[in-house]
Amino acid sequence: MDQVSYTYQNMIGDLEDCGLNLVAAFDISVLPESITNTLPDRAQEDYSSLLLVGTKGSSFWQHLKSINKTQGDCLDEMSQKITIDIFSTHFANARYLVLYPHSEYVIPLQQLGHLVGWGRPSILGPGINIEYGTWFAYRTAMLVSESLPASEYAQAEEVCEQCIDKPCQTACPVSAVKTLGNFNLKSCIGYRVTDDSNCADKCLARLACPIGMDYFYQPDHLAHHGYFSLRSIKRYIENNK
Ligand code: SF4
Ligand code: SF4
Repeated sequence: MDQVSYTYQNMIGDLEDCGLNLVAAFDISVLPESITNTLPDRAQEDYSSLLLVGTKGSSFWQHLKSINKTQGDCLDEMSQKITIDIFSTHFANARYLVLYPHSEYVIPLQQLGHLVGWGRPSILGPGINIEYGTWFAYRTAMLVSESLPASEYAQAEEVCEQCIDKPCQTACPVSAVKTLGNFNLKSCIGYRVTDDSNCADKCLARLACPIGMDYFYQPDHLAHHGYFSLRSIKRYIENNK
């Protein structure tokens, strides 16, 4: 194993120790145009790799609890901070540019994740993986000047296509969950913000999906997500009146 690969493996180990247990690296010179088009100008000249960090289950949330950092917008703030800290520790001379979560860029995270088999589209909207269901999240993405060992491309197994009963569809109170690519976001959002909504802090359809039960978010993690997603929806509606 060469030095960069060795250092990269150690970096992955440190990220995993913090609950950031999904890590992939991409050679940006061979990414599809649909992704490179979203990157900053001169990305290919100034950087070599794109580092994508995510988490499955509640491991990152548990880590934040262990260091007493579960207040406010902690998932975004702390995942970015921890990823930068760990990357910079291992690759001290490398430059980086954060693409997600806190940046001016909007990059197709799901498309990147699908390239390495983290998930494939579900009828609920978010990606789904046969092992951990919908219980995973993209936490940090950044361009780095170091040429990291590129992850192998992989195709995640089909999940919703094989699911006969589709309990997520019947669990949704407003029938927003339909077929692949036809999720009714307007109905979902409209219902979530009503005063007597049963989905203010959770998605009943997502909870009804039997895939990835071992990775279900812990109740306080779920509530945290629910609170912040509802807050974002309300802000969006307010700003677009
Ligand atoms: S319940 Fe079935 S159809 Fe619905 S999200 Fe889960 S796997 Fe897909
Ligand atoms: S949040 Fe509620 S309304 Fe929206 S898809 Fe989930 S179950 Fe349906």
